[in-house]
Amino acid sequence: MIDPFEPYATEPYSDFHDPHVVDGFRAEIEAVRGRLGQDWPLVIGGEQVVTGQWIASHDPSVSDRLVGRAAAAGPDEIGRAFQAAQRAQVGWGALPMVHRARALVKLAAVMRRRKWELAAWEVFEASKNYLEAEADVAEAIDFCEYYARQAMDLDDRLETYPYPGEENTLTLQPLGVGVVIPPWNFLLAILTGTTVAPVVAGNAVILKPSPKTPIIAGLFMRMLDEAGFPPGVVNLLTGEDAVLGDALVDDARTRFINFTGSVATGMRIHERAAKVQPGQHFLKKTFLEMGGKDGMIVDETADLDAAADAAVAAAFGFQGQKCSAMSRLIAVAEIHDALVDKVVARAERLELGAAEDNADVCAVIDQVQYDKILGYIARAKETATAVLGGEAGPNGGWYVKPTIFTDVQPDDELAQEEVFGPVVAVLRARDFDHALEIANSTRYALTGGLFTRLRDRIERARREFRVGNLYINRKITGSLVGIQPFGGFDMSGTNAKAGGPDYLRLFLEAKTVTERY
Ligand code: NAD
Repeated sequence: MIDPFEPYATEPYSDFHDPHVVDGFRAEIEAVRGRLGQDWPLVIGGEQVVTGQWIASHDPSVSDRLVGRAAAAGPDEIGRAFQAAQRAQVGWGALPMVHRARALVKLAAVMRRRKWELAAWEVFEASKNYLEAEADVAEAIDFCEYYARQAMDLDDRLETYPYPGEENTLTLQPLGVGVVIPPWNFLLAILTGTTVAPVVAGNAVILKPSPKTPIIAGLFMRMLDEAGFPPGVVNLLTGEDAVLGDALVDDARTRFINFTGSVATGMRIHERAAKVQPGQHFLKKTFLEMGGKDGMIVDETADLDAAADAAVAAAFGFQGQKCSAMSRLIAVAEIHDALVDKVVARAERLELGAAEDNADVCAVIDQVQYDKILGYIARAKETATAVLGGEAGPNGGWYVKPTIFTDVQPDDELAQEEVFGPVVAVLRARDFDHALEIANSTRYALTGGLFTRLRDRIERARREFRVGNLYINRKITGSLVGIQPFGGFDMSGTNAKAGGPDYLRLFLEAKTVTERY
């Protein structure tokens, strides 16, 4: 089929060094500030539903500022959402692929027109600075554009060998109704990507966003409406995890679960979804993208300035709250001290402050995460050396100072567990071999990186560095849709490779038809 859309290209970013650009974005922040504190309903079968129960979303940078309240769903709403999704899926799944692909391109256009408005909401709801907020919206747009084009490739029958006297076709069909469970950290991008992929494939979904960032989900539903998605194709259930999480996963009507989040929740979903419930006549599929303990190796031949720039960007961008964040810096002994000096010197210059003021490092998402990070820091202080930070920032928001520990041993908690905050463990390796051994010594295998000038080491890392996304001589965060398909191995998840050419295939099943003439 001829591709009906213009060629795919990633969404450009604004230059926030330009004062005019900054002024323009600040005006958008002011406009959104005037809309904070509103109530946001559930959306079931296209209808706005309120339940009388609410969950509150606060600005992490100014923690008593209410961003909004989202309706809290209960068992009745779960039942209604499944009914609405099942009804809608029949018609939606029967449409030609190009019809659904066009809906995604339209959604991308709606988001593009409202790019700064959406980014401004992220400043308040997730404490993302301007660059991080806009990048998240850009990624959401990229997912829509990319999956629209990928869908077109799956419309035709797949190739099989001919057989005399028979016609054989292999075609793909949607799975049915699924549940989408994204995290709060890429609040619009992952929410959008994990929703529109199964949807363009012809499925209908119940979207259950993180209770830490429910307001962006309300905005997403309004944009789906503006883009002309039929009612019931995406149903929004906000609310408490304790009420919604297990109930949606366990439900006998759930065909698949598209989850991104922590290893603990992912393992729980994996286990529960394996149980066939009464009345369930299929096996549930689960796509589980989980955490990371991402390491960057710097060897004695590396450009240390470039490595230090990359380390600081990957460790402290969005306060280290990225699954891909560099939380382990693995330095070969010969350059360890020089590298640490350079990294600390750069990290010292990072400004800690409110996202609305576009600080380099802003508040972490909420008190739970804040307490957790400070707990890791307190325990690390017993054995390692804090060469930067190591304490909370100013009151009023959930601020943690950028923190760097040296003298961390490979088996230490700080070298093994995902902290999900602005905390780096520096590990000293005897040589490159030892560095690679340390890099591969956690249960996670999501992102990793190597700074070196030696070709043979690059080739070895390509083969032996066990991560789903390996970056050579650059920062280890910031994968681009359609360019660096994303997802890890081992306890980092099922390696769905979001933004990659195989992703949509996960939400389709293949049917072979043989007709003998
Ligand atoms: P989380 O596991 O706490 O929550 C993720 C989602 O699961 C949320 O929507 C949450 O409400 C929901 N949830 C919680 N309990 C549930 C239950 N019992 N049943 C069903 N759903 C439940 O994770 P988080 O704090 O939102 O996100 C941070 C984690 O996500 C980090 O570990 C990070 O590394 C990971 N992450 C991974 C990727 C990736 O692509 N591999 C991308 C982004 C984030």
